[in-house]
Amino acid sequence: MREFTPPRCPNRRCRMHSNPLPRFYIRRGSYRPRCRPEPVPRFKCRSCRRGFSRQTFRSDYRDHRPECNVQLFQLLISGCGLRQCGRIVQLSVRSVQSKFRKVARAMRQLNRNLLRSLPGAGHRTFLLDEIETFEHSSILRLTVPVLIERKSLAVLAVDVGSIRRVPRRGSRRQRWLSRHELNHGRRRDRSRACVRRVLGRLRRLWGQRRGLLQTDEKALYGALLRHTLPEGHMAHETTSSQLPRTVFNPLFPINLTDTMLRDNNGRLRPRTWLVSKKARHLRDQLELYVAYRNWHRQRTNDDLREVTPGVVLGLAERQFEFGELLAWRQDWRERSIHPTSADGRRAIGKVLLRQAS
Ligand SMILES: [Zn+2]
Repeated sequence: MREFTPPRCPNRRCRMHSNPLPRFYIRRGSYRPRCRPEPVPRFKCRSCRRGFSRQTFRSDYRDHRPECNVQLFQLLISGCGLRQCGRIVQLSVRSVQSKFRKVARAMRQLNRNLLRSLPGAGHRTFLLDEIETFEHSSILRLTVPVLIERKSLAVLAVDVGSIRRVPRRGSRRQRWLSRHELNHGRRRDRSRACVRRVLGRLRRLWGQRRGLLQTDEKALYGALLRHTLPEGHMAHETTSSQLPRTVFNPLFPINLTDTMLRDNNGRLRPRTWLVSKKARHLRDQLELYVAYRNWHRQRTNDDLREVTPGVVLGLAERQFEFGELLAWRQDWRERSIHPTSADGRRAIGKVLLRQAS
């Protein structure tokens, strides 16, 4: 492994952050943290005089027990609950929760940084579907719209929103909902807003290029598509949800994605104890899953291990290891270090550090 070279000053207000000159830093020896075997090099910026280290660029910066992060990530995308994760990696539920939130934020940023637009000039097919689940109680329903690209099976967008389903009048469930709404206000139905956001994401990723969107026959999709995407660029094809869910069903890729989502995310299973207490935490869980799905997991079991959705889309030159997904902090957008960069020199946005002369 080549020696780490700081690609920029980590201080956002410093000129050397956005426009680093070669040798903007001075080496300041190294320190030996208790949790890592190798020494961590230290530096000082010549411009703002601030000190920093290799650790300042890592996503596990200031973490306790950073060595459990990869295992925790693997457990979380395998349908494991937070308590069970804590038992396996020997952390308290509280520490698991805070690590979960931090990793989810990093994965949201990573997904956003790596998926800024879709390459290719040709025709692409997209599929959209909603998974229904619940928060807190099975009466408080949630919708999870999922958008994928057909060939790569990459998950391009996912969202979570509350929906309101009224149980049979006079039933116990209906009385429960009335009591709940008395205390918390009427439950909002955000299905429309949620699907609109997902289609907005498709517009930003695919722009004016031609494509086809495949969905089931829910009337909302056609109406929102006409509003969100430019006229005549995105064709719409609907398939009845009554058709058998076989490989010959035009919606097979999205049905497969839904099944995988339920299998890998305990929170989405219909009968489980791992119910999301809050929709927000389900969103976090999905960010983790999308990072795993697009950049690490093979597209299908019939593909080679290295063929990930990101590779098929042309957004990644190879599969990213778990350690790489969690390596560098991703909060500087295209200025963040690329996950595959071992020495820190390659940025997401290809803005390479000028070679020191
Ligand atoms: Zn500086």
